[in-house]
Amino acid sequence: MLPIKPNWADDPYWEQPLAAVDRVTAHGVLLARGALRGVFPRSFTYELVASAHPVVAEQFTYVGRLRLLELGLAIALAGAEDAEVDRLRNAAEYDGVAAELRASLMLVRAGARLERPIGAPGRMLCERLATFPGGERLSLEVKLPDESERDLHLVRVESTLIGELMQRFEWLQPHVSAARATFRFAPEISELLGSDGATDRRNAAIEQAVERVRTAVSEGSPFTTIELGVLGTLAIRPEAALQNLQFDAFGPPMDARRTKRRLTRNLLSKAANQVSETGLPGVVILDLRRDYAAINAVGLLDRWAMQRPSLAAILVVDSTVMATDGRMYGNVDVVPGPRFSEVSTVLAGAFDSCTEGHLHYNPLCTPSSPCPLAWLARVA
Ligand SMILES: [Zn+2]
Repeated sequence: MLPIKPNWADDPYWEQPLAAVDRVTAHGVLLARGALRGVFPRSFTYELVASAHPVVAEQFTYVGRLRLLELGLAIALAGAEDAEVDRLRNAAEYDGVAAELRASLMLVRAGARLERPIGAPGRMLCERLATFPGGERLSLEVKLPDESERDLHLVRVESTLIGELMQRFEWLQPHVSAARATFRFAPEISELLGSDGATDRRNAAIEQAVERVRTAVSEGSPFTTIELGVLGTLAIRPEAALQNLQFDAFGPPMDARRTKRRLTRNLLSKAANQVSETGLPGVVILDLRRDYAAINAVGLLDRWAMQRPSLAAILVVDSTVMATDGRMYGNVDVVPGPRFSEVSTVLAGAFDSCTEGHLHYNPLCTPSSPCPLAWLARVA
């Protein structure tokens, strides 16, 4: 059986996501689904499967369907050129083009009319020029950073370790109840996957960790922090609300300055050049969909942005907070550049601000109140 049905753009699984969408009219929904059908017609279904296209996974989940609806709306309202439609059909290019189109929708919802910049051939131009009803203009560039290989490796090691530790620490369960056991991994764990002998080193590290925890628990109160050598630490704390022992794990702290360098060296420098070509204030949207680690560097971008004369703002859009609730979509950080005052009023029209003082972007649903970010644990 195929993981996607040829009629997925019209199947009954839209019912739940559509019920959450209160900011889009019935007509808007029709347009959005029509646009999706146009880009991914029934006849294209086997291509989607054969190329492991991201749409196959997206149509599978509630959140994915909301993202598809947003994309459909962007195509219908902001317009997609033939070349963009072709690139959306290409599995490797889909995420990048979809991010550009969603960013276009953001400006259209704020009242902008969009056009393509025209310039000398061979010049790197920005993606769109926007003109607002009051005559304000800006140039827009969208960047979708990818997690660096090193960060990605760490994520893989962590998930491997968590799986193995969960098994090896099952015995702890009857000894401790109503408690939380938190692994905090050390940077050295990156040596425990991939290279020669990594499996042996990992097994030895886990063995040692189990031994240390057994000793600690047998010698006194289990509610303590235990040094686990290469792995890091395990902290066990009572937590009355829990029925049993619950495990969680945190990776080694990322180096925010290194992340900042990674973002500015190529991606953001290029974007700042692209938006400068038009002479208009430049807005760069940094979409964190594939690079959640980049959020740690946002606080370090202020000075860099202020040194880019054509820059009006970097808008950092983090849609990973969406979880399973459509109303939790999109947290936005604004990093102002020297020309911020020229665009601040028109950009404000794109976002919601909540009682907690955050900026949110949600083109589909009215955000929930009180703000979920106030209680959502954010761990750097
Ligand atoms: Zn909020």
